[in-house]
Amino acid sequence: MKDLIYLDNNATTRIMDDVWETMVPYFIHNYANASSLYHSMGREANAAVEKARIQVAQALNCQTKEVFFNSGATESINTVLKGIYKNYQSKGKHIITVKTEHKAVLTTLQDLEKEGALVTYLEVDHTGKIDLSMLEKHITPQTILVCIMAANNETGYIHPIDEISAICNRKDCLYFCDATQYIGKFQLDLAQTPIDILCLSAHKLHGPKGIGALFIRRKSKPIQISALIAGGGQEHGFRAGTYNVPNIVGLGAAMVHIPHDDAIMQLRNDLENALSAIPEVYIHAKEVSRLPNTTSICFRHILASELMTHCPQLALSSGSACVSGTRDPSHVLLAMGISKEDALATVRFSLSRLTTKQEIYTTIILITAAVKKIREHSPIWQLFQAGLIT
Ligand code: PLP
Repeated sequence: MKDLIYLDNNATTRIMDDVWETMVPYFIHNYANASSLYHSMGREANAAVEKARIQVAQALNCQTKEVFFNSGATESINTVLKGIYKNYQSKGKHIITVKTEHKAVLTTLQDLEKEGALVTYLEVDHTGKIDLSMLEKHITPQTILVCIMAANNETGYIHPIDEISAICNRKDCLYFCDATQYIGKFQLDLAQTPIDILCLSAHKLHGPKGIGALFIRRKSKPIQISALIAGGGQEHGFRAGTYNVPNIVGLGAAMVHIPHDDAIMQLRNDLENALSAIPEVYIHAKEVSRLPNTTSICFRHILASELMTHCPQLALSSGSACVSGTRDPSHVLLAMGISKEDALATVRFSLSRLTTKQEIYTTIILITAAVKKIREHSPIWQLFQAGLIT
């Protein structure tokens, strides 16, 4: 593990030392239940939860009453999609999303379709971009929700969330934004951007795993989302279950420490410049606005799984789901019109503020050598070289 170069930060990040240190006392010194308000230890734990809520609200520029803690983005997505569908059927059953959303969204919506939901899956172009005029056209008086992520976890493509929220606002339709990959890389001011519902997850921003926050805007007509988990009435009955105090404290601390520097983007660009000099290598969504830490690179005529196996010193990802031992091509890349072969030849590199110049330099050397070696022994590469395949 010591020498592993970790470039899988869109999957999860290392917890920062200062975040971890804020959490430790709530495991071993103050381990009280934050709902036990009859003793001082419980009241202190409760105060720590409320401090974290203030930290999240300040980072997003929203009210503390609009922040709810839960186990992470998957739970938020399930809560919102199922909760909105359940409560807004008198308005309609129509939900709009995009083909490149995270599986947590797509799978939940497929389940809702079985119950009668009508879902529009917007197409994207080869960069992952949606046509905003199509979004506007699809919103009807029966549309109960638009669900579009802020940034794509595989390619890093950033949707124009200001424009999307403005369209939804104008058309009087709720907008739910999965900002799991966006928060931690950029500031988002919810007083300026009229997103109605937003989710984030601590483990993507150097916080602990298994904790997230859901923002639900307070409006003159309250947004109706039913609780997914019933029980002891925590979070005003919206999300039952004993407060995970150390994790909540860690989330609050991680939200305070979001850095603002261009160093990650510079390293990402150095990596891209070096690797795209290899023949038949290209970068997905390079020409559009992307997360500064992410690059999705296609090494044509090579299986990404083979390339990763050749580089055990590197922690990378193909971005695709591994189902029963066989790798499926990424649904994101397929939706962008990328061929199945190129999708299976794509590797995602996701950096973090902990990534060093030396690590990127070593990565370039290892990947360049591995591509050369694999292609030397590849009959497909030889066919390509002979002009027999494209
Ligand atoms: N949404 C996006 C865009 C993600 O990248 C992820 C994590 O991979 C999730 C949702 C799910 O997040 P969590 O691990 O907090 O459930």
